[in-house]
Amino acid sequence: MNNIFEFGDPLGPAKVIHIYDHQSGLKAMVVVDNVACGPAVGGVRMAPDVSTEEVFRLARAMTLKNAAADLPYGGGKAAILASPKLPVAKKETLMRAFGMAIKEIMEYIPGPDMGTDETCMAWVREETGRAIGLPAAMGGIPLDEVGATGYGLSVAADVASDFCHLDLFGAKFVIQGAGAVGLHAARFLTARGAVLIAASDSQGAVFNADGIDIVQLTHLKKQGKSVLDYADGQKLARDAVIDIPCDIWIPAARPDVIRANNVDRLNTRLVLQGANIPFTPKAEQICYDRNILVIPDFIANAGGVICGAVEYGGGTKEIAFQPFEEKIRKNTTLMLEGVTRTGNLPRQIAIEMAEQRIRRATAYRSKRHGHGLQLIA
Ligand code: NAD
Repeated sequence: MNNIFEFGDPLGPAKVIHIYDHQSGLKAMVVVDNVACGPAVGGVRMAPDVSTEEVFRLARAMTLKNAAADLPYGGGKAAILASPKLPVAKKETLMRAFGMAIKEIMEYIPGPDMGTDETCMAWVREETGRAIGLPAAMGGIPLDEVGATGYGLSVAADVASDFCHLDLFGAKFVIQGAGAVGLHAARFLTARGAVLIAASDSQGAVFNADGIDIVQLTHLKKQGKSVLDYADGQKLARDAVIDIPCDIWIPAARPDVIRANNVDRLNTRLVLQGANIPFTPKAEQICYDRNILVIPDFIANAGGVICGAVEYGGGTKEIAFQPFEEKIRKNTTLMLEGVTRTGNLPRQIAIEMAEQRIRRATAYRSKRHGHGLQLIA
């Protein structure tokens, strides 16, 4: 995207902020998309190659996700342009510099995302006084340890499988991105009788038609190894997971991994979007035309942010699970009922559900707080 102003719409973005701090070497972006329902909650991604457009699209996904989940928050996102594999001391320097830089952007509440974790949030909280996804010792609910997002995906799978007449017991599924979301989703789906037949990470992929042992795979990944180190399976190139015939395909890595030019390779019945914006709009339309049911990111993967909202309100993990199971079940059901009623794409129905709530909240805002796009560079 050459010009962020081309992408403004009635929802946002409200602010696009580029941060450069020469002393620490920090280069970062914050997009506050919409704050009608409350301050913008969204993760801080650390990656060397994130564009302003990507941060904006991720912030929009958070606006819709938080609204659809009835949370008192708007949507935002941040990116720090750096390798997530930096030495710890350098990472701390950047995270603290980021915290100091966003201290006055009170309408943005940061959380963890790809490349950042609860320790990063502890550093940011010390600098800003606010962050979600904190370590347990600071009152946090360890989202990736609990597997909130992965559990939410299994709840969405439960509802969606009824809709597309798929028996979860014995259903074969593939995970693209064996990280926090992918591995927990695999654990909870396996508990419902589904069988993991392939998984990938940034290094490659592994396939076993008889099933991959999720405990063993998780153990390997926790040791910092790759799925390629899993012994009992065929080693494949990273993107070969796109071609493996399966009942459920779960993207749990990067944005735009499925596009118009590779969507025809998918051979599946149900897609559960664990990652944010993993399919382009055109790819989702093609799936719909091919009768592949796609449960959109901001409905399926809301478990983490719902849990984070409970944490920010002072709640514990014991009270977090029930509300998010109910919310994901209810939203997936309402969305699929809308698809049956109208014949529209699942995402379109889900956006309408989220926008209705944003419109109701916007009615309480003073005109002086209209979302008026500001660009601060
Ligand atoms: P993570 O860093 O724990 O795991 C990501 C995994 O994807 C890693 O194993 C990495 O090697 C792999 N990967 C990277 N590029 C890949 C590629 N091109 N092909 C295959 N694998 C690749 O991250 P995570 O927390 O599991 O998040 C994954 C996605 O889910 C992100 O898009 C994130 O925004 C989204 N998400 C995460 C949460 C959460 O609770 N963690 C919540 C909602 C959405």
